[in-house]
Amino acid sequence: MTFKAEYIWIDGTEPTAKLRSKTKIIAGASAQAGTLDALPIWGFDGSSTNQAEGHASDRVLKPVAVYPDPIRGGGSSGDVLVMCEVLNIDMTPHESNTRAALAEVEARFGAQEPIFGIEQEYTFFEGDRPLGFPVGGFPAAQGGYYCGVGTDEIHGRDVVEAHLDNCLKAGLGISGINAEVMPGQWEFQVGPLAPLEVSDQLWVARWLLYRTAEDFKVSATLDPKPVKGDWNGAGAHTNFSTKAMREGYDAIITAAESLGEGSKPMDHVKHYGAGIDDRLTGLHETAPWNEYSYGVSDRGASVRIPWQVEKDGKGYIEDRRPNANVDPYVVTRLLVDTCCSALEK
Ligand code: ADP
Ligand code: MN
Ligand code: MN
Ligand code: MN
Ligand code: MN
Repeated sequence: MTFKAEYIWIDGTEPTAKLRSKTKIIAGASAQAGTLDALPIWGFDGSSTNQAEGHASDRVLKPVAVYPDPIRGGGSSGDVLVMCEVLNIDMTPHESNTRAALAEVEARFGAQEPIFGIEQEYTFFEGDRPLGFPVGGFPAAQGGYYCGVGTDEIHGRDVVEAHLDNCLKAGLGISGINAEVMPGQWEFQVGPLAPLEVSDQLWVARWLLYRTAEDFKVSATLDPKPVKGDWNGAGAHTNFSTKAMREGYDAIITAAESLGEGSKPMDHVKHYGAGIDDRLTGLHETAPWNEYSYGVSDRGASVRIPWQVEKDGKGYIEDRRPNANVDPYVVTRLLVDTCCSALEK
């Protein structure tokens, strides 16, 4: 008896890494029981993924999380999706491996119980046009598309529904989906979950998005500004809390303030996804990329405190700055490091 394991990893493409995957046939019934024991380390040609030179090209894939594969056998075949991290042959983290640093930070601040919900926005394309854009022109201006219904407003719902089902069959912690402000633009949310968990799952949900869309002959992109001009960009709002923030308002303010201190705004924003200055213009529900602000209910601030959080006097904050193409291992590491250091004092 054998099962198919799809080994997924993040490559070394600059400035935005790409997902790669390949299939391993493994002897045995399955690896589905949530254990990594049945999944051996594997290798690949790093010279084809911007992760090595040709003369010393071997890189190592180390499984870090496993999910039922909803594409092959609908989740009941024993086939699995295997999220991997990339190591050098001496088993040290490869320089493209941003997960290793998050693991250290999560271990250091785990007692504060940080959790995240990430809102992943993305855009479908058919050829060189966003889905729903007429050939050689533009659709009606934005206004009716966000959370819309009907053929005149909605493009790609069949793909979105198939992707959602695939994520749920894989056991991912999806908390919702919605149509976005620009035609062909959508969002799904992952979490709330611990930093490594939410990040592994977001990468797998992205892989499933591309893979599901293949079957519908459309492509999905995380381009933060897929159409120039008066059209919304695509972000990855990152909602964050610790145990103290979920219990009281002082901790909410401490966290929001900590993100504005000294060099923190720049330290964060420069790692929030390539092309961030094109998206954070101060228009289209964004704050300018080079000015930090926070506020209650304010979708024009860098960090929003939801109205319900102010009312309840506890909850979470939303960092609205990350681009759709952000690396979740990096944004969660920076938020835990900055906010949990401040909360520790
Ligand atoms: P928005 O109103 O900004 O569109 P969404 O509903 O799309 O918000 O996303 C909010 C996200 O915040 C969800 O993923 C949700 O699970 C997450 N979330 C809720 N409570 C918390 C919390 N205490 N800590 C972190 N994330 C949270
Ligand atoms: Mn080969
Ligand atoms: Mn949202
Ligand atoms: Mn959104
Ligand atoms: Mn949001």
